[in-house]
Amino acid sequence: MLKRNGMFYVGLLLVCTGLALLLSACEQRETPQPQEANTNKAGTSQQEGVKTELAPVTDGQTSKPDSPDNDSLPVVADPDAVTVLVNKQIRLPENYIPADLVYPDVRFVFKEKIEKRMLRKEAAQALETMFAAAGKDGINLAGVSGYRSEARQKVIFNQYAAKDGEEKAKTYSAYPGTSEHQTGLAIDVSGSDGKCAAESCFAGTPEAEWLAAHAAESGFIIRYPEGKEGITGYKYEPWHIRYVGVELAKEISAKGITLEEYFGDAVPVTTQP
Ligand SMILES: [Zn+2]
Repeated sequence: MLKRNGMFYVGLLLVCTGLALLLSACEQRETPQPQEANTNKAGTSQQEGVKTELAPVTDGQTSKPDSPDNDSLPVVADPDAVTVLVNKQIRLPENYIPADLVYPDVRFVFKEKIEKRMLRKEAAQALETMFAAAGKDGINLAGVSGYRSEARQKVIFNQYAAKDGEEKAKTYSAYPGTSEHQTGLAIDVSGSDGKCAAESCFAGTPEAEWLAAHAAESGFIIRYPEGKEGITGYKYEPWHIRYVGVELAKEISAKGITLEEYFGDAVPVTTQP
């Protein structure tokens, strides 16, 4: 009898272990993979149907609602701070829009005065300073994509999700509310010819090297550095710069760390209302 009970418990244990393994495997598949930040650009050349620029968004309410798992992400406590940390684990308040968006007076790779030409005022002024400094060094930069509203990110993301399914879309497109472009403090830049704009081939160009060496002097950091995918959740993006202020940018740059590493566990968040 004891032996039979023993066998029963061993069997039960095996079944439970099997179930636990299955569950943990499912959880791991939910873990974000390193990916291209922020969508609607190359690196996703296989996404031909939606690669082209989309029409400006006028009505975000027509978008599909967020999925529960992203709605449950912690929300950053002070979205207006220039040091705000937004990533796949910490989102902006729903439909957050910076109050001080302006058009920086710098060259862009397009002519239109549209949303993605804007940045928050302090970042816009810093960008003007940085482009001027680059120009003095013979480096002619151009803006590719700055501010992006949550409404617009939703349209972009939902198009990807309709094509590839939401889970796959998340591997190459920022989920609405988690794109750093929504802060108005991040911008993708390229050389003035627009070649390799927001594409991997931008790495190693004189423009990319100038940015890596000098962006911090104007308060910008390379937000998704090489070899930090496991920390930022994004693959190397030498074109994506983020304004954090001169002092912090210099510290982060000198230490060779990311914004995540700078904050460690000290990110102030609030729970979703
Ligand atoms: Zn970007």
